[in-house]
Amino acid sequence: MITLKLVHLYPREMNIYGDTGNVLVLRRRLQWRDRPVEIVPVSLGDPIPHDADILLGGGGQDAAQGEIGEDFAGRAAELRAMADDGVVMLAICGSYQMLGHEFITHEGRRIAGVGVLDVVTRGQQVRLIGNNYVDTPSTGRLVGYENHSGLTTLGPGARPLGTSQSGRGNNGQDGTEGAVRDNVIGTYLHGPVLAKSPRLADDLVQRAYARRGVDTELEPLDDTLPELAARVAVGRPR
Ligand code: GLN
Repeated sequence: MITLKLVHLYPREMNIYGDTGNVLVLRRRLQWRDRPVEIVPVSLGDPIPHDADILLGGGGQDAAQGEIGEDFAGRAAELRAMADDGVVMLAICGSYQMLGHEFITHEGRRIAGVGVLDVVTRGQQVRLIGNNYVDTPSTGRLVGYENHSGLTTLGPGARPLGTSQSGRGNNGQDGTEGAVRDNVIGTYLHGPVLAKSPRLADDLVQRAYARRGVDTELEPLDDTLPELAARVAVGRPR
């Protein structure tokens, strides 16, 4: 069995509300199945391994997004080529915004994105905060927590990850949450989302194997606890 290489982008700067947990969840679910996995942290200036299977990026404050902004923008061509090549990506909140074209903070500061996702984000004074769930066509209900000032609008090159409760999600207006193209997923769900959305976790892994031409069926795991956690979170709006 091949080793899946998980790349953790900017673990120091972009990790709020437990988003590093997404990396741990993927690693643990592979280890439980005795499948080899390697984690490569990529910080400012580090190269992204050319054979990365899954890229994971977490949320960050506006200030942290500013800190990584130039470094991240310098990787635009590389990241777009990876997305075109089917590399799996899961980007949360601040990282999601920066996979788009640009993020204008609520103070009017422009943080350039890399254009992997056809989305733009504008900050506002009022933040969208609380537990949220997203109903998706392919991986059922995803459950997480959102806290952002940026409102995101999708262009024609991206489709929503799913539909959200009113007043939440991408912009609090159009009922969409997250964005998808090829194997790239952006979402506002922190938490970490994969701890309460095991179907999405397995879907990412399955996509990564499929891209490498590995035809394999993931062994079922006991997901009683993540499912319980998801139900409890859905019952608590904040
Ligand atoms: N700083 C961004 C915003 O407020 C992202 C926040 C986050 O990652 N939670 O919109």
